[in-house]
Amino acid sequence: MTEHYQALVIGFGPTGAVATALLGQAGFQTLTLDRATEVYDKPRAIAIDHEIMRLLDGLGVAEKVLPHTAPFPASEHFGAQGQLIRRIDMVPEPYPMGFTPTMVFTQPPVEAVLRAHAAAMPGVTVELGTELIGIRQDAGSVTLTLRDAAGHTREVTAETVIACDGASSFVRQALGMALEDLVFDEPWLVVDLRVAPSGLAKLPVNAAQFCDPARPITYIVGPGNHRRFEIMLLPGEDPKAMQAEPQVMRLLSRWLAPGDAELWRAASYRFHALVARDWRQGRVFLAGDAAHQQPPFIGQGMCQGLRDAASLVWKLAAVRDGAAPTLLDSYGEERGRHVRTLTTRIKAIGRQICERDPEAARARDAALIAQGGGKAPVVTRQEIVPPLECGFLAAGDHPARGTLFPQPWVQAPSGWARMDRVTGGGWRLFLSPGAPETQGAWRLLPTGSTPRPDAMIERDGVAAAWFARQGACAALVRPDNYVFGVARDAAGIAALRAHVAAILHPQKEIA
Ligand SMILES: Cc1cc2nc3c(=O)[nH]c(=O)nc-3n(C[C@H](O)[C@H](O)[C@H](O)COP(=O)(O)OP(=O)(O)OC[C@H]3O[C@@H](n4cnc5c(N)ncnc54)[C@H](O)[C@@H]3O)c2cc1C
Repeated sequence: MTEHYQALVIGFGPTGAVATALLGQAGFQTLTLDRATEVYDKPRAIAIDHEIMRLLDGLGVAEKVLPHTAPFPASEHFGAQGQLIRRIDMVPEPYPMGFTPTMVFTQPPVEAVLRAHAAAMPGVTVELGTELIGIRQDAGSVTLTLRDAAGHTREVTAETVIACDGASSFVRQALGMALEDLVFDEPWLVVDLRVAPSGLAKLPVNAAQFCDPARPITYIVGPGNHRRFEIMLLPGEDPKAMQAEPQVMRLLSRWLAPGDAELWRAASYRFHALVARDWRQGRVFLAGDAAHQQPPFIGQGMCQGLRDAASLVWKLAAVRDGAAPTLLDSYGEERGRHVRTLTTRIKAIGRQICERDPEAARARDAALIAQGGGKAPVVTRQEIVPPLECGFLAAGDHPARGTLFPQPWVQAPSGWARMDRVTGGGWRLFLSPGAPETQGAWRLLPTGSTPRPDAMIERDGVAAAWFARQGACAALVRPDNYVFGVARDAAGIAALRAHVAAILHPQKEIA
């Protein structure tokens, strides 16, 4: 009999590891495979944000990831004359999601933690050193041909496949799923260093973007003594030759002397902006770099892949449990739009950074300073990441729809705790103090309120400020923490619930 799984994940990179853990948590019998036997031992992603840390906390793995992170200091952008032209910072405290809004992290140990956590989930089997070499599907299932390290091949079947097999995705190519080119193609050299105390004393304290038209350079302050430089390659420079240590140290000689740092890795990349036209073909879904690639200027590539996994897995679980199968169409619709909007914003920032024409660079600097009313404007990383603009959301155009619901610290028997720890995951209805009485909801009360069994007391007024800003008294929140919709009264709350129930429990509605 052919081996059969409810879900099969191709690729055990960060997207595959999180998709696997979410599938395991949702009770799917899952096989995950990767042709590599080890975690890739060099860092690629270096930034992670609070939405993703909240997702990892929901999986119970945030405490193991946090020791490998540090706050991402503000990134100071310097213009053609070396003057400050912009600061990209994070939103101030009290933090909206209960975590530092933007963090740096070291990818290999974090990937190892994510993998171990996923592999330990009940119902999950992980096979390393096994490559997918063939895929076909019919209406009933997907058949996959696998080849193990010894060269033996076998066929397995699955109800659903999530292809997290990276930028050159075998699945995407085998199924002829096209990528759309959003038109960005710049050669950069990425350099990771372990810096000695002598070197740390010479380097900037904050992250920096040197928008020098002679050679744009990014500098990132990683955790501990990890520092990254991303250096634009100029026309005529050979990407391979530029990776050699003497060349790298020559490029960094403005800051560091030999002996100030150990070169961890230097690799040349072409920064692209690509997004899948179709995210789904039958029972097969693309996620992570298999579905999109973007320039790393805001550090969102891996975060986007983890958002994909979160969006897809709760929908797969809902459909398994009786929701309308059309719910799955919202996956590509909402993730596709989100990736396009964010990539377009990143590209615009990238174009400013990559400006090589001195005249145009001077005009850019003047325009940014004018935009800041005569001084360098401050932009937060959080305002660059858009809300969901379409997909499975309430009707209407309320600005809260598709945003992330905040996560305040709330009173718990053991002391202050992040809200999701108290409520658990899944769909949740949150109410402001003055909202009408509603069954099965969580009311958020200010500090000093009398405790009630159906209410949580919040510490910093994060939820109260959110409700006031939105002019709403209730928010219906999806399992991935995005706001489905908000309401101002009992009738609005009932309408939101009816809308969701019609999709999640269509049988009950008919009965
Ligand atoms: C220079 C640089 C800087 C970056 N900075 C950031 C940042 O700061 N923040 C951020 O969020 N992102 C960043 N990114 C992006 C981030 O690194 C990627 O988006 C992320 O690693 C992709 O994860 P993934 O799991 O989708 O794919 P991958 O990590 O590529 O994993 C794919 C896996 O699939 C396996 N595989 C492939 N084909 C097969 C097959 N046929 N059979 C079995 N297994 C297969 C591979 O072995 C691999 O393990 C950066 C990227 C680069 C290049």
